[in-house]
Amino acid sequence: MTTVPVLRLEGIRKSFHGNVVLDGIDLDLAEHEVVALIGPSGSGKSTLLKTINLLEPIDDGRILLRDADISDPRVNVDRVRGRFGVVFQHLNLFPHLSVLDNVTLAARKVHGMPRAEAEERGMRLLERIGLGDKAREHPDRLSGGQQQRVAIVRAVATSPEVLLLDEITSALDPMLVGEVLELVRELAAEGATILMATHEMAFARDVAHRVLFLDGGVIVEQGPPEQLFGAPREARTREFLSRFAAG
Ligand code: ADP
Ligand code: MG
Repeated sequence: MTTVPVLRLEGIRKSFHGNVVLDGIDLDLAEHEVVALIGPSGSGKSTLLKTINLLEPIDDGRILLRDADISDPRVNVDRVRGRFGVVFQHLNLFPHLSVLDNVTLAARKVHGMPRAEAEERGMRLLERIGLGDKAREHPDRLSGGQQQRVAIVRAVATSPEVLLLDEITSALDPMLVGEVLELVRELAAEGATILMATHEMAFARDVAHRVLFLDGGVIVEQGPPEQLFGAPREARTREFLSRFAAG
């Protein structure tokens, strides 16, 4: 791991109409690090991920991507977003585009990659996830699990510096969760730098290098998964995890 973090959050604050959602979040994400964000619904996980990708402006603090302050209002938003790969909870593909066009669009439009090169790369990614034969189909011909796997390879098609994953399996039929998590596991093993909000505790325990428990707008506790899940220090963490285990 490098000493300079890929991503650094300093004192991030964000309110919606006086409702404080992020109350001073500090976080360093090292190259190749996989960090899981856990916490109750409404604890600000999605908002935090959106502030990083400049989808939500912050009220205070700084966001550094390598050495660039991307929270500077003068920043080129499209260029910054092009450095992240993002997958959200809900099925994200453009319904009117073919699977291959979904995968290649950002490479072509944002990164200016020639179509032939983008398609060759896109086909390799689709073949890797066993969906090469679906390249010309529209997304509605795919299962939810297949669609989320396409969304993930679309997110990595531009070789992003950081992958931001927001509850990417929570809209899926439980039968389809495994194949999606398996792809994330592979990307993590290949050295992707990942910040992921998740409700999949077993997965977080298995794949994340570090787990952050977010509640009330602050990081209540963080640590390696075996410590955070196995021996949580804070009462709020214990309470959350027990509630979770109870379903
Ligand atoms: P989580 O992803 O952890 O479930 P969110 O980040 O989605 O939490 O939401 C955190 C809080 O911020 C919630 O109270 C939610 O209602 C509120 N919130 C999120 N987005 C908005 C918005 N665009 N406008 C107003 N309130 C919002
Ligand atoms: Mg959320």
